[in-house]
Amino acid sequence: MSLNRSLTNVLRTTKNHLQRLENLGVKTVRDFLLYFPRTYNDSSEFTKIVEIRTDQINTMKGKLTNLFNVRTKFGKKITRGVFADDTGSIEVVWFNQPHLTKMLPRNKDLILSGKAKYSLGKISLQNPAHEVIKPYEEQLHSGRVVPIYHETEGISSKWIREKLKPLIDEWTDLFEEYMPQEILDEHGLLDYRTAIQNAHFPKNEKMLQHAKNRLAFDELFILQLKVLQTKWHWQQINAHEEKSLEIKTEDIKAFTELLPFKLTNAQKRVTKEILKDLNKDIPMTRLIQGDVGSGKTVVAAIAALNTVKNGYQVAIMAPTEILAKQHYKGFVETLTPFGLNIQFIAGSSTKKQRDETIRQMKTGTADIIIGTHSLIQEGIGFKKLGLAIIDEQHRFGVKQREILKQQGSPHLLSMTATPIPRTLAITLYGDQDLSIIDEMPLGRQEIITKIVPEQKRIDAYRWIEDQVAKGRQTFIICPLIDESDILEVKSVLTEYAYLKEHVFPKLELGLLHGKLKQEEKDQIMQDFKDNKIKILVSTSVIEVGIDIPNASIMLIEGAERFGLSQLHQFRGRVGRGEHQSYCFLFTNALSEEGKRRMQAMEKHSSGFKLSEIDLELRGPGEVYGIKQSGIPDLKMASLTDSKTIEKARQSAQKIISKDPLLKNHDKLAGKLSEITEVHISD
Ligand code: ADP
Ligand code: MG
Repeated sequence: MSLNRSLTNVLRTTKNHLQRLENLGVKTVRDFLLYFPRTYNDSSEFTKIVEIRTDQINTMKGKLTNLFNVRTKFGKKITRGVFADDTGSIEVVWFNQPHLTKMLPRNKDLILSGKAKYSLGKISLQNPAHEVIKPYEEQLHSGRVVPIYHETEGISSKWIREKLKPLIDEWTDLFEEYMPQEILDEHGLLDYRTAIQNAHFPKNEKMLQHAKNRLAFDELFILQLKVLQTKWHWQQINAHEEKSLEIKTEDIKAFTELLPFKLTNAQKRVTKEILKDLNKDIPMTRLIQGDVGSGKTVVAAIAALNTVKNGYQVAIMAPTEILAKQHYKGFVETLTPFGLNIQFIAGSSTKKQRDETIRQMKTGTADIIIGTHSLIQEGIGFKKLGLAIIDEQHRFGVKQREILKQQGSPHLLSMTATPIPRTLAITLYGDQDLSIIDEMPLGRQEIITKIVPEQKRIDAYRWIEDQVAKGRQTFIICPLIDESDILEVKSVLTEYAYLKEHVFPKLELGLLHGKLKQEEKDQIMQDFKDNKIKILVSTSVIEVGIDIPNASIMLIEGAERFGLSQLHQFRGRVGRGEHQSYCFLFTNALSEEGKRRMQAMEKHSSGFKLSEIDLELRGPGEVYGIKQSGIPDLKMASLTDSKTIEKARQSAQKIISKDPLLKNHDKLAGKLSEITEVHISD
């Protein structure tokens, strides 16, 4: 008997059913026993239709009152229905599943689970998963906590329960406890077998909670273990005494004395953390998190200076050309006095310039090379790369970071202006050490933020006109439309044309959207920066990190469509100069949650505070694009469960620091090898 035994030999069922299980990722006995319920028969878990939130998964219990197929002009089959509970109704749409009209009952209890989308003025549920509730089944299981599984066509929760129950009784004993006893004791966790049993068929509510706790801890713990071990490996393989850079106190002092400002305490602290890392013989992997305008660049510049003064090169990569250029200018200004040769490389560089820069990179003539993706194109190379800096790291993929790492495994410093609560950050970016700049430079003005009612729109436009006449510049962000890029571009074009013709006919307007080529975008940003454009109308593609000190107004349309972190990023585009800056939020329909988000914008200016509120209001999936992060789907754990995350991190750290190769934890090592490579910090 082995848990790896194929279900073919164990389950009495049809080939068809086995295939369907396989589609759910269930092939072996182990898979099946670890196929945990989606939820339990607690009806309070359902979302009321009035409380549906867009762009996230809602699971509702109700009845289909209407269901029919239609065919679009283009021959697509659409199934439309109306789904209602005692609080309201919502339109449901399925694409290319005409059989549903036969399969789904009308006016009978049904569970639908899917994303609600807002489009053309109404909310609809698109392609939801469905689950028919059979009344007799409820009777059959009444009086106990009934597990509800993710279903697929032909495989119901009931079927799963019936097939799973005997397997659990017979096979669970084969699962071995892999968690060290001291960790179980420390956190009061249930043993693995009991947890598995109770996750499926809990003895009672309390045991269910224990089982969930244990399994949630496991998921997070294993994830942390994997990440920390990967980091340890990379650092060990690349540990070399040559990596250790001296701290050039004199140069750093001279550099900071030349700055027109004093470093904030947060900047000093983070600089120290970085220098300490650079001084070690293992390569640094550190992420600086700091709100827009908190002054990350100057910290990076100190790290760069220190590296070059040790005889090494530094590469600085930024996501856009304009940002790279901004850095280039700043670095040339502040670091040339120290005799550093700073070079630039980007898409717009001519072949001749590029060849020359690459030559200087390879021969070591260039000390600091600043650029875009061009920095890691084919054919490049460094003589002696000591430090790689990635600005706005969330804009880059894992691959790009890897390419830089392969250039002699330099110290690695990433920066991001997306503030993330710590517990999430150690999950998302667990393989990096975190430095947080949580203090704004002195004298930084508060940006006045106001929700503007529709009837004040004209006043707002006139006021902007007035400000432009006084020399200021304005951003106008058009609402996020998530159906398609095309629609979004269409809407921004319409808005732009309208503003140009009817609202600001005498002013120079610019237009920025995602369908433009990078060079076109860069050109427009440059024109805006050069004050040739007074009002920049843009979709959400508006670049991060750009300094346009003269822009003092940020007007956001459809603000409720954006998450707080993103609104905060937009707002960070202004308030960078000497002029009092403003952020105006226009909203359409506001849900209760939307209202709270807008009010939070008015009230708070800290990105960290806002990200916490956002997380609370919308959940991590929406807020941080967890899907793209490469974190495996968490089945039992929640990314908002900061207590468990901290516990798991601490326990994992304890193990890795004593036994990084898990030589004394062979069962844990086995468990770890079951999961595939985790790519974090994309
Ligand atoms: P970000 O963290 O968003 O990348 P930057 O590094 O671009 O921010 O800094 C924003 C602006 O603040 C720059 O013009 C920079 O020169 C300035 N700055 C940085 N540190 C300080 C400081 N300690 N005091 C005053 N101004 C500062
Ligand atoms: Mg920056």
